[in-house]
Order: sequence, then C-alpha cells, then structure tokens
Amino acid sequence: MSSPVVDMHCHLDLYPNPREQVQRIAERKSYVLSVTTTPKAWGGTSDLAKGVPRIKTALGLHPQLAKERKSELKLFEKLLPEARYVGEVGLDGGPNCRGFWKDQINVFEHILSACVAEGGRILTLHSRAAASDLLDALERHPGFGTAVLHWFSGTQRELARAIEMGCWFSVGAVMLRSKKGSALASRMPVDRVLTETDGPFAAMDGTPLQPAECEVALRILARLWSMDEPGARDQVVSSFRELVSL
Ligand code: MN
Repeated sequence: MSSPVVDMHCHLDLYPNPREQVQRIAERKSYVLSVTTTPKAWGGTSDLAKGVPRIKTALGLHPQLAKERKSELKLFEKLLPEARYVGEVGLDGGPNCRGFWKDQINVFEHILSACVAEGGRILTLHSRAAASDLLDALERHPGFGTAVLHWFSGTQRELARAIEMGCWFSVGAVMLRSKKGSALASRMPVDRVLTETDGPFAAMDGTPLQPAECEVALRILARLWSMDEPGARDQVVSSFRELVSL
C-alpha cells in the first residue's frame, strides 16, 4: 500500500462513484479536501465524508457559477459556522466569465466578509486570469483567514505579492507539467506548497485524475526541491499539518 498523500482540492462529489472513492481514500489514509461548487451541495457532500476524518469538506460557491447561484449566499452564511474550510471560491477573469464580473465580485466580497465575521477560515481559491483582483479583494478583508491559491496561473510578480501576503499554494500534475506552472512552483516557499488533483476536472492523458492521485505532482516537486519522492511527500504532509494547526 502506498503512503498517505495530501489532495488539497478535489471535487469528490462530481465523480460517478463517490462512495467507492471515499473507501479508497480511507484505505490509503490520504488527506483530501473535498470542495463544493454550490452551497446546496454541502449537505450531501459532507455526508460522504462521515466517519472518515481525513476527508474534510469545504463550503463553496464557484466563481463560474456566481451569476446563477448568487441566491445561495444566504445558505452559504447559514452553513458557514459548521464549515472549517471554504472553497471552491474566488474570481475568474477568463473570457467566458467576464460578462458577470460584477456578480463575481459581489459574491466573493460577501464570502470574505462572512469569513471575517466567523473569525477566519482556510480558503481554497480559484484565481484564473484574476490573480491581482483576487489579491486586492483579500487585502480588503483582513481576518478572512488563510488563503490557499489553487492551480495558481498568474505572473511571477503576482506570485511574489501572494507570497508576501502569506498565501499558500496547491499544485497539481497538469500545472506542474507545463513550463510556466513549474517555473511558478519553483519560486513558491517549500513549506507553503500542497498537492492537489482538481479531479475529476483535471485529466492526464485524457483520464480524469482520481482523488489523491498525486504521484506525478510529487515526482515533479521532488525534482524542483532537490529531494527524493518520499521526502517531497513527507514535506507536503507536514506542511498540511502545519496549515490545519494554524
Ligand atoms: Mn476546482
């Protein structure tokens, strides 16, 4: 049996067979952050993880759904006291999402204010084509908690700013296999990098990544960090433990 790994961003509820996936994660003793894209998914998705303490569920409202699901903000606020983790949330500046940018900003600002009011949360954040705007929003809400930038794809300058602001990062195989992604990852502080799959959305060679399928990501990180693979895996597990104890 392989050693436990960290999957800091996985859409467990979107696999065709989530219960089997939970069983596999439990057997392997992996740590999985099971993210949701709408507050309405919270109930069913957190039920999946019952009895498996290493699977944590995050309360989310995906920026790509900001327009159609903004009416669920009330539910988000109602559920937030039970949720220690928040995500997937954030901003998307891509061409398909710019048309409802105002809704995105309203939803994200609302979520950050709610996190401040609850004393802070650990957030897994989407920032595609919107890194500077996202960092600006975080700066407007001191006390929101801890930011984990998922699949960060900004510039080196935006990365430097995020590091300065204390952000964490979660990186996956698809990101790390690209030249730009591995160049970004090589500049991230080693003790603030976690692995992720973003499955089942992220796919390698046409096959969706399975929960906690982080071997390729760890192999590339090991190379970037000049460690062996078990060393990189242990580093990520100990960083994860540090994050959750903050
Ligand atoms: Mn995602």
